[in-house]
Amino acid sequence: MDVTENLTNIQQDIRQACENSNRLSEEITLIAVTKYVTIERTEEAIQAGISNLGENRLEGFSEKYSHFENRAKWHFIGTLQSRKVKDIIDNVDMIHSLDRLSLAKEINKRASNIVDCFVQVNVSGEDSKHGVMPDEVHSFIKDIAKYPNVHVVGLMTMAPHIDDEQVLRNVFRKLASLRDEISAQQYSHAPCNYLSMGMSNDFKIAIEEGATHIRIGTKLVGEVEK
Ligand SMILES: *Cc1c(COP(=O)(O)O)cnc(C)c1O
Repeated sequence: MDVTENLTNIQQDIRQACENSNRLSEEITLIAVTKYVTIERTEEAIQAGISNLGENRLEGFSEKYSHFENRAKWHFIGTLQSRKVKDIIDNVDMIHSLDRLSLAKEINKRASNIVDCFVQVNVSGEDSKHGVMPDEVHSFIKDIAKYPNVHVVGLMTMAPHIDDEQVLRNVFRKLASLRDEISAQQYSHAPCNYLSMGMSNDFKIAIEEGATHIRIGTKLVGEVEK
């Protein structure tokens, strides 16, 4: 399927989910996750009107960035090793995977400006998932105040890979309520207004539960180049 067609379908779903939950579709930022696909396929996405790209590994990020540069906004969505921070920091618009203080420290040290970050939360508690545990999010975010180049704009999670709508909804709801608790604190270093949640399989539910940033790969650009 071409990206334009996929995008039309996704935009339709976004509108529907927003209608269901009394939200405006302008509140939603669609990030095209291009980790599976080529430069050519990514170019199609940009031609179709996509302006936010997400990559989860340094290699993919660097390859795509060096090609497209400021034709897109850049989201780093994968586990980030501290020693790789210096390689992305000047080019990234948002980091979605801040999950430990040592990483915040390294971002703070390497950044020449304030960097917008999402704190990744392991809501589902699966061992395989990265992220701060829900009951540690408050103290984690408080501790980040000592790193002035790190700005916590929101929380991010990955839901379990299942079809049970109620379980997914509960995961997203939990992240939204944590976000509400943090933003109520009005920390100057952590406004925490955003929610990065929702992928190909679950973005409609995520939007209904308050997502502001959705990260879509498979349904938008495809899994592998065909
Ligand atoms: C791969 C990936 C996505 C996109 O997943 P799809 O199911 O292909 O839409 C979103 N977020 C993260 C963190 C990812 O690694």
